[in-house]
Amino acid sequence: MNPLPSPPRSWAEIDLSALRHNLRTAREVAGCAVMAVVKAGAYGHGLEDVARSLAAEDIEFFGVANVGEARRIADAGVTTRIYLLGATWSQERAEIVGRGWTPCLSSLDEAREFDALARAHGSRLKVHLAVDSGMGRGGFVAEGLPEILMELEKLPNLEIEGIGSHLPSADEDEEFTRSQIARYVGIIDSLGGPERFRWRHLSNSAGLLGYDRECCNLARPGLMLYGISPLPGHEEKLRNVMSLKSRVTLVRTLPAGHGVSYGRAFVTTKPTRVATVGIGYGDGYPRAVSGNGAEAFIRGERFPMLGRVTMDQLMIDVTGSDVAEGDEVEMFGPNIRVDEVAAKAGTICWEILTGITPRVVRVYR
Ligand SMILES: *Cc1c(COP(=O)(O)O)cnc(C)c1O
Repeated sequence: MNPLPSPPRSWAEIDLSALRHNLRTAREVAGCAVMAVVKAGAYGHGLEDVARSLAAEDIEFFGVANVGEARRIADAGVTTRIYLLGATWSQERAEIVGRGWTPCLSSLDEAREFDALARAHGSRLKVHLAVDSGMGRGGFVAEGLPEILMELEKLPNLEIEGIGSHLPSADEDEEFTRSQIARYVGIIDSLGGPERFRWRHLSNSAGLLGYDRECCNLARPGLMLYGISPLPGHEEKLRNVMSLKSRVTLVRTLPAGHGVSYGRAFVTTKPTRVATVGIGYGDGYPRAVSGNGAEAFIRGERFPMLGRVTMDQLMIDVTGSDVAEGDEVEMFGPNIRVDEVAAKAGTICWEILTGITPRVVRVYR
């Protein structure tokens, strides 16, 4: 008989009750219906588990990046409507129509193909009009849009039930964002006014937290569901969802003048107690924090990292503590916020969370 499997070396604890708390907060702040954005494996938190957990709340749509994600949610038995956030390409469209997912349209050609597929399928497909009010990634530009809508309305197997746009700078440029929201309102007015569309949506987390959106009746929060505010001043409303953890595998005292890790970017100047931790960039903990003052949380205290993050291990200065082999280590979570890790890595929280690799076991609470 095989021995019992050992516990995971590194894991991510996912607090599903915090996730649901954040969803409720998003709905309260938005004051309207919510599309929960769960693209990229629910920002690394685990697509199926997060979708099942949120489906029990009152949400209108799940927002996903592509058909692969849509399929995984639907196959997990979740019946909430699924919306594809970005442009689709031709070979994805038959499955979208067949399974009744909701695409957004950026061109007349794709609209005509969806219409033909829906006719062949014997159904009428609900679609949203994507408008490009400043993002430059997808959607119809405002110019000529009323005429395009008239063309779209001639397609009998499509029902244009929504209109969406996206904010590129809601966490960086308030003035631009205000003018963009005004532009979006103007576009809707030029298309027959708000009543023309069952769903009107524009806001990501930053848009939802920082701006009035009377034009809209649906919000698309992503990051804030996972407990992180893209704008300062909203942290107290949200609860941390993911805690990235690992174990001390070894503790030794190195003499003065001893290099630590690749490149010997750090050399001890005195006898130093060094804990080796079983996590590295192969787990998605960013190598880019190396040398930038990153810390780890062990036994209720923060300790500084030494030298470079390696693929599977990293070293922590635990001089003066009784940190021991087997101790649990928090790399980020309630005590070290992921914003802090992202800043030290020179990147954004979205990239850190979605970069946690499959080697890290997700543990749900
Ligand atoms: C990712 C995404 C969102 C969610 O953005 P957050 O900043 O994570 O809240 C909303 N809408 C679209 C179109 C997106 O691509």
